Amino acid sequence: MGLTKTIWAKPAEFIAHQQPQHPVMFFAPGVLQDVARRFIDGFPGFVSYAVKANPMEVVIENLATAGLRGFHVGSVTEMRMIRRLAPDAVIHYNNPVRARAEILAAAAMAVKSFAVDSRSELAKLIELLPASGIEVSVRFRLPTAAPDDKARAKFGADPALAAELLIAVAAAGFTPSLSFHTGTQCTEASEWVRHILAAAEIAAQAGVQIARLNVGGGFPGHRLNGVKPDLKGIFAAIAETTQSAFGAAAPRLVCEPGRGMVAECFTLGTCVRALRDDEHVFLNDGTYGSLDELPLVGLTDRIEVLSPEGRPKTAAPRPRVLFGPTCDPVDRLPGEVPLAGDLAEGDHLLFHGLGAYSTATNTRFNGFGDVAVETVLALR
Ligand SMILES: *Cc1c(COP(=O)(O)O)cnc(C)c1O
Repeated sequence: MGLTKTIWAKPAEFIAHQQPQHPVMFFAPGVLQDVARRFIDGFPGFVSYAVKANPMEVVIENLATAGLRGFHVGSVTEMRMIRRLAPDAVIHYNNPVRARAEILAAAAMAVKSFAVDSRSELAKLIELLPASGIEVSVRFRLPTAAPDDKARAKFGADPALAAELLIAVAAAGFTPSLSFHTGTQCTEASEWVRHILAAAEIAAQAGVQIARLNVGGGFPGHRLNGVKPDLKGIFAAIAETTQSAFGAAAPRLVCEPGRGMVAECFTLGTCVRALRDDEHVFLNDGTYGSLDELPLVGLTDRIEVLSPEGRPKTAAPRPRVLFGPTCDPVDRLPGEVPLAGDLAEGDHLLFHGLGAYSTATNTRFNGFGDVAVETVLALR
């Protein structure tokens, strides 16, 4: 009939029909909406999506459809996009450092929640924003034992400065709140517990009752077959600790997941361009493209090998070195990856759980990185 099929059953069906030579991001909107509802129904507070993890319009639109009402942005460009795609949503501008023009742009877009971690940035907010109806959340961090700890820390006031800032925020007439961010791909509920206990101490030291506590992002994606993230356990620990640490003065909770929200709804499809002397695997995507963050956060083992006909290859695995397509020698995935022993040129590798910090950080270096997006009903 000449009709073009635009929604595929799963990646294997697309591969068998289209034999793509370029990298493909397979997107399952149903998976995204399920995860969004898991956060909205399970988290004991307000859920705000950290846009930077994956700012694709289909992601924002599906989150809004799933009922998500909050977005955490770091830039004016992200803010404009949210106002365009989800006009009624609440925007949290939690990048603690901003140019004056960026503060004014946020105010003009009716943004009412800001984070700070320094005296100088708070002074700018006091100068440029009306006090009433604006929440200012003091972002704190817990020091580590490293000798250069303070010099290396990009964001977050230490607890003593956080208490001082909280007093100044309240005195300026802003609604005082606290926030922290555990760091990305945090699998330990104890990290949230430790930070929530510290937040209660900071508020007590300041003598300020906080309106909200923003427990940040960091919710883990599923990166290794053997390690399943336990979102429910983390949510329960957050709720219990907040009650026990703050008691009757318990603040309302906010979280801002990036990775945990979008990782699972995308699978990256890559193609083997060459199997050099049956040893090195050269893919058509790599660390300058959708696999950008693997050298930082480590390899995933949720990888499937499909033949050009879309059939799984299941021969006994053999460890392989994987290179990306660019001419830069650092364009290599960390470690060695066990892949089906009968792997061949033209086969496809599916990397599951790759929706976060993938398309968002693709550089297109060396003429590669042109990734297509295909919609699927299911990813397997
Ligand atoms: C990036 C970021 C997030 C999201 O982090 P994930 O690890 O992707 O969940 C949340 N909060 C802040 C302040 C961030 O900068």
